[in-house]
Amino acid sequence: HAVGLHEWLARRAGRVPKQPALSCDGLHWTYGELQQRIEAMSAVLAAGGVAAGDRVGYLGLNDPMFVVVMFATSRIGGIFVPLNFRLSGPELAYVIGDAGIHTLVVGEEHLAVIDGVRGTLTCKRFIHRAGGAPGWEPADALMAEAATPPDPVPASADAVAVIMYTSGTTGHPKGAMLTHGNFWANNLNEMLLWDMVSTDVTLNFAPMFHVGGLLCGSLSTLLAGGHLVLQRGFDVAAVLQAVREHRVTVSFGVPAMLLFISQHPDFAAADLSSLRLVAVGGAPMPEPLLRLYAARGVPVHQGYGMTETASMITFLSPDRATDKLGSSGTPPLLTEIRLIDAVGEPITEPGAAGEVCVRGANVMAGYWKQPEATAAVFTRDGWFRSGDVGYRDAEGFLFICDRLKDMVISGGENIYPAEVESVLYDHPDIAEVAVIGAPDERWGERVVAVVAVKPGRAITLEALQAFAETRLARYKLPRELRLVDALPRNPTGKVLKAKLRTPAKEGT
Ligand code: ATP
Ligand code: MG
Repeated sequence: HAVGLHEWLARRAGRVPKQPALSCDGLHWTYGELQQRIEAMSAVLAAGGVAAGDRVGYLGLNDPMFVVVMFATSRIGGIFVPLNFRLSGPELAYVIGDAGIHTLVVGEEHLAVIDGVRGTLTCKRFIHRAGGAPGWEPADALMAEAATPPDPVPASADAVAVIMYTSGTTGHPKGAMLTHGNFWANNLNEMLLWDMVSTDVTLNFAPMFHVGGLLCGSLSTLLAGGHLVLQRGFDVAAVLQAVREHRVTVSFGVPAMLLFISQHPDFAAADLSSLRLVAVGGAPMPEPLLRLYAARGVPVHQGYGMTETASMITFLSPDRATDKLGSSGTPPLLTEIRLIDAVGEPITEPGAAGEVCVRGANVMAGYWKQPEATAAVFTRDGWFRSGDVGYRDAEGFLFICDRLKDMVISGGENIYPAEVESVLYDHPDIAEVAVIGAPDERWGERVVAVVAVKPGRAITLEALQAFAETRLARYKLPRELRLVDALPRNPTGKVLKAKLRTPAKEGT
């Protein structure tokens, strides 16, 4: 049966060849045009010797060629490896070597970084995503001259389709092996929960090398026959303009993106009336921000997901958005969750917190070339351990507290930074805040608030404590304030807490 990425896309293209499929920066392709390019690219890759199981890498900003190379790789039985374009040359060289990339396709912005480490790479082929450059084969010309495309290779559900690296928020990124079945599961989960249809116009501004940009809406839009509008990077003014221009119905952002959108001067007057669903996830979402969007009439719905689970683990359906504000919802059809305590016993009582574990057709096959790391994240009975702490209410709605690794233990009490951050985000002078623990002789750890204030504003520790003390237990109040211009974030918008913690360990 047609479970491969390329197989369902080919069917869709066969049915609606004239329908708009992809737009990006003034370029528009129908499904027929997209499919024709996928076939041509598959001939190009096969001619260069890419065989079943070989890895094809893509390094570049969001781009239609990203989509083409992914499906073309799938079409010849290869494994697609999207690369994080913020990495340095040596970091990229490490990942490219680790994944054993056979053919590397690169956008113009990143030719130089690869040229800088080219001598250390073992790739057989280097292709520029468009017109070529010295030392690079031009994709455009290769595709124009391509031989007759090879027959598509059928894909089984358990074959690896993509190696997708985690965000690297807590350490080195890990390469999650996502199968064709994993993609299928997430697509179905989204179809059922987001009601994706052929009239949907989905705007994607999250980087596609990451699970959010690739899986939260983008692929399910193509499966449904909708129109996918790509933005090469994240730019608030461009986002607001695209929503109006394309009458966008569906979008996804991480909390940081929704925060920056809400703080933009054009936000108040922007026409956002076409949006029927904006999914948010990938990091703790402060409640004040959810309320702000609700008041503005924008349907923002929280989901909880990870790279290792091909995106969605739970999602808050639109009908419960108001009465379950702050919840990440319930698991979709093809996914199950369970909470476990410190010794691995399941927790069933409402309100009791434990580590979230996941099982289902969306859970990865394992980490690429890391059997020990893989073994460490699966329980003996096959549940994937997320490393996140959450609790369920009496109706089974999941509330994520925070990552286990980010929990602060002060005076023997567990403190979830995300809860403290959520309260502080209500403060009118705060633009961005992250809460971390710092070593403390008396308490073990103390709560530290790292704050960027809004332009022209100021704040003191005493004012922060006075603001928070009516809503937080005393032991959760920040004991130290550090002011910064902006928080360090990775390309997926997540705060790099390890980076914030380092000076505290070294200093004083
Ligand atoms: P790494 O695993 O490399 O340290 P990462 O965990 O940030 O990076 P991702 O797979 O992008 O990599 O992110 C998954 C994590 O994002 C989850 O484990 C969880 O901590 C966080 N997350 C996702 N959705 C939510 C949510 N709705 N609320 C709180 N946290 C969330
Ligand atoms: Mg992770």
